[in-house]
Amino acid sequence: MTNVLRMSKVYAPTLKEDPSDAELASHRLLLRAGMMRKNAAGLYSFLPLGMKVLKKCEAIVNEEMDDIGAEQILMPFVQPAEIWHESGRWDDYGPELARMTDRHGVEYCLGPTHEELITSIVRNELRSYKELPVYLYQTQVKFRDEIRPRFGLMRGREFLMKDGYSFHATQESLQKTYDETSEAYARMCDRMGLEWRAVEADSGQIGGKVTTEFMALAEYGEAEIVHCTCGYAADAEAGECICTVTQYERDGIEKISTPGVHTIEELAEFLDIPSTSCMKALSVKDPEGNITVFFIPGDHELNDIKANRVIPGFDFLTDEEMVEAGLFKGSMGPVGLPEGVRVIADSNLKDVAQWAVGANEDGFHYAGARLGVDFEVDGWADLCQVKPGDKCPECDKLLDGARGIEVSQVFQLGTKYSESMGAYFMDEDGTEKPFIMGCYGVGVSRSMAAVVEQHHDDLGIIWPLAVAPAHVCVIPLTVGDDLVQPAAEKLAEELAALGIEVAIDDRSERAGVKFADADLIGWPLQVVVGKRGLAEGNVEVKLRRTGEKRDVPLADVVGLLDFTGRVDFKSEAGFNAFDAIFE
Ligand code: ATP
Ligand code: MG
Repeated sequence: MTNVLRMSKVYAPTLKEDPSDAELASHRLLLRAGMMRKNAAGLYSFLPLGMKVLKKCEAIVNEEMDDIGAEQILMPFVQPAEIWHESGRWDDYGPELARMTDRHGVEYCLGPTHEELITSIVRNELRSYKELPVYLYQTQVKFRDEIRPRFGLMRGREFLMKDGYSFHATQESLQKTYDETSEAYARMCDRMGLEWRAVEADSGQIGGKVTTEFMALAEYGEAEIVHCTCGYAADAEAGECICTVTQYERDGIEKISTPGVHTIEELAEFLDIPSTSCMKALSVKDPEGNITVFFIPGDHELNDIKANRVIPGFDFLTDEEMVEAGLFKGSMGPVGLPEGVRVIADSNLKDVAQWAVGANEDGFHYAGARLGVDFEVDGWADLCQVKPGDKCPECDKLLDGARGIEVSQVFQLGTKYSESMGAYFMDEDGTEKPFIMGCYGVGVSRSMAAVVEQHHDDLGIIWPLAVAPAHVCVIPLTVGDDLVQPAAEKLAEELAALGIEVAIDDRSERAGVKFADADLIGWPLQVVVGKRGLAEGNVEVKLRRTGEKRDVPLADVVGLLDFTGRVDFKSEAGFNAFDAIFE
């Protein structure tokens, strides 16, 4: 029985108790089901069953990449520092980039991503527009020294990523590859059984709508998403914030004694107005030390990415720096700021005629400070983190919120790397041009965790067929006898002959232990073979997804499960494939 997975031989140490530091279901259950083990913060080993799932996820990703014409390669995990100096990222990447020096004193890094390396491979050798586009990818371990590795595979330091890179002569060609890759990413999610959404993401310094993230929806996902019934969806880090600010109008400006009032909530309560009528102030400095105060609607938070776009490299002032600059924490306002302090306000405040703000004096606020009369604003910008209830930028309806796990991202890079690293080709018109590039990443190990996040219950994992460690587990309730085990073995072999992936729990464990482990590991279908059932010629078939059970004559099982030609286990999540048994 070479094709049957024998649980007596498989190294899958299951745990009865929840590991104490595992907060998320995926983290907890992958450990408990004996699929992986932690070696250090953000470092995990995949054990045999976990490895099977990971390999299936990887195969889905690789197949979809091959299908759109990308070619698989393998680059070194360790990369020379030199090329990172060329792109400027040796300095920009920060402490997430793990650096090392070899015995000769030459610097290297552990690859967190491979734009530099791939660019260094094609430059000087890929020379003519006639050879373009070129699309290469690899599926390989990455290392990022994450500040807070957590949630198991979700945010590891070492993790498996599929990273692809494309080189083009024209923007149209890049757009085509970008769209095809987006479609492939959608299919990958579908095949893994993920419920997902494509969202507008932050495009960093490049700007424009040139990047999309694929989010697996999950209650405990790290990413916040806003979405609208019109189809608009964005990562809350990136989405435009259009909100409703409640006008609070008065006859004129009035300075009010507000003892003990320092927060927006306290001010709103003191003035008996909604927090949406108060303006939050945040003091920041640029790398040269020039000070700016940002004003945003009181019920919103500053989005650091957006703020960084307005003041690159900004930092918040410390309490001491505020005192030094003559600013009053908890009482800042645009009226009467110290000389040289700039005011930049959120665009949503443009139409707000009168502001409730600090008076730049401890214990005082202004109510009704008039924009354009009592104070001026030096600049307007989209500064706030969008949240549910804000307006959709595309249709004006109110946005809903959700949480998600970023499983993949597509990105139009433009010429950032080709220009900085001198990667040029000869175009049709005889001129040298930098390659227009795209890059595309899938978190393979994170996707595996996302599948568990979406498909589990109190008892354990519920694998979609396409990524299950095996499709069916045959469970003989006694082993070593001459009735039950032989019947189970024969059945397992017959099912395997149908092309179904079969495991047999041939361990000499109590029935209760086998049932619990089968539910925990999450085989999509269990076939229980016991003495009592066999006496009547029956086995019990249990669908993990619903818990439904049915007695089936032993002789009928193979017929019932003969899906040949109907279900392609490898290319469909196939949740419902086994449902037919229960109709
Ligand atoms: P995040 O914002 O979650 O840190 P990222 O945007 O920095 O991720 P990318 O550079 O886009 O990540 O990498 C491509 C994919 O690799 C991501 O979409 C994600 O699925 C996966 N990934 C990134 N960081 C990690 C990590 N620390 N652990 C596991 N998977 C990761
Ligand atoms: Mg990303």
